[in-house]
Amino acid sequence: MQRKKAHIDARIEDANIDKGIIVLLTGNGKGKSSSALGMICRALGYDMKVGIAKFLKGVQTTGEDAFLAKQPNVQTVFMKTGFTWDTQDKAYDTAMAVETWKKALAYLEDESIDLVVLDELTYMISYKYLDEQQILSALNNRPINQHVVITGRAASKSLIDIADTISEIKDIKHAFRANIKAQKGIDL
Ligand code: ATP
Ligand code: MG
Repeated sequence: MQRKKAHIDARIEDANIDKGIIVLLTGNGKGKSSSALGMICRALGYDMKVGIAKFLKGVQTTGEDAFLAKQPNVQTVFMKTGFTWDTQDKAYDTAMAVETWKKALAYLEDESIDLVVLDELTYMISYKYLDEQQILSALNNRPINQHVVITGRAASKSLIDIADTISEIKDIKHAFRANIKAQKGIDL
């Protein structure tokens, strides 16, 4: 235990760089967007400013949307459309993605925003609604101390390369498969 403590203390001492990081939450299990909300909550506790861009899920409102709308330090932009297999209108969905991205880009250029959450961004790349190079360059050029959290399944190789912290959430069981519908406070 003494050796372990010395080892851990040394690792903590080595970690002395202070900078904005990119956290990528991916995988098929439940918990990506709600983990991002946990970090929003932490940031707000320190009076940090948060910008949220919600890709895809703009049509369905959730408990956190109602909560965050009351937070003075939070700005949110919603892409008010869903998956193209629902809308059957790719041109409209792409236009909405581009509109939402413009606002997200403004967050990524704004030094006063401490944390930017790009919820469900991975799909914008995998379904080619947005240009991946533009996203990567905005992430690379953002203010040095700004943190970014990106969520969504099947993250691309370049998002994996650019992120500092990545967790892949594994689906072991989901209540939905036992025909339990989405529950308030848990799923939405
Ligand atoms: P959450 O917002 O609950 O953290 P998530 O962001 O990890 O979930 P999404 O793919 O964005 O997952 O889906 C959001 C919604 O779909 C939530 O209602 C969530 O419970 C549900 N969901 C997530 N993963 C699964 C799954 N493997 N099977 C069925 N439903 C799922
Ligand atoms: Mg999600």
